[in-house]
Amino acid sequence: MNNNQHTGKVILAGAGPGDPELLTIKAFRWLQRADVVISDRLVSDVILEEYTNPDALVLHVGKQCSKGFSTPQSTINELLVEYALQGKLVVRLKGGDVSVFSNVLDELQVLVQHDIPYEIVPGITAALGAAAYAGIPLTARGYSTAVRFMTFYRKELLSTANWQDLAHSQDTLVFYMSSESMDDLIAQLISHGMSGSTPLALVEQATTPFQQVHLTNIGDFGFFHRTKNFVSPTLIIIGKTAGLHEQFRWVANHQGGENYFKPVADSSQASARA
Ligand code: SAH
Repeated sequence: MNNNQHTGKVILAGAGPGDPELLTIKAFRWLQRADVVISDRLVSDVILEEYTNPDALVLHVGKQCSKGFSTPQSTINELLVEYALQGKLVVRLKGGDVSVFSNVLDELQVLVQHDIPYEIVPGITAALGAAAYAGIPLTARGYSTAVRFMTFYRKELLSTANWQDLAHSQDTLVFYMSSESMDDLIAQLISHGMSGSTPLALVEQATTPFQQVHLTNIGDFGFFHRTKNFVSPTLIIIGKTAGLHEQFRWVANHQGGENYFKPVADSSQASARA
């Protein structure tokens, strides 16, 4: 570990999927002590405004690649190193969990390269938040014995063998970052043999006051999608378990299409809290 007394420390922490109360006490304690917070877009403002040291410098480094806005990973890495080498306690706050579809590997590599001490604090990933707030057990006796966290934002990510495997699997399939490619995703599953009656739940803005859950099935999805635009972020849950939503839903759908998470306004610069 680092012997330099002047080097600070970086806490890589998950903020949970939306509901600010899903933050862990450990992450909360670090936020209370933070000198600098470097936050993703999918982090509740409440966490930054109410649970964070009011004297901390808060930097927004949102990524919203589908909209073409993004803070380059290299800029985020530079910020982490710059503040840590100034002796600051830096909290790098990521939506959901730190290790699920986040660029934590890049950040870990850069911290090790610069001999900067760090800790990792897990968070509730979107799949678990969405499942809980939609009343969908992801594994359940007689329904599924496994769950897969996946993404399909680029065609090359899945081979024909992958599609065949998925289409015939009894596992619950959870797709992150796939709302732009949903039609293609469903078409591939159907053409590789998935039954049209397989339930599909689409969860928009899970765990936030604007959450909406739409339950349909693979076969009807095309028609359903043509009649509806989905608000980001969206998660897709496919499999027999998704149908349990009907029986166990406990959160009412919000009516209206407001955004809980602010869109990324600035494409290239990390912006400080005003
Ligand atoms: N590290 C995050 C995932 C980041 S990838 C985590 O562990 O949750 C971003 C994707 O996560 C989004 O495109 C969306 O598919 C999903 N996501 C994140 N928050 C969400 C939410 N509140 N509701 C629905 N999906 C969400």
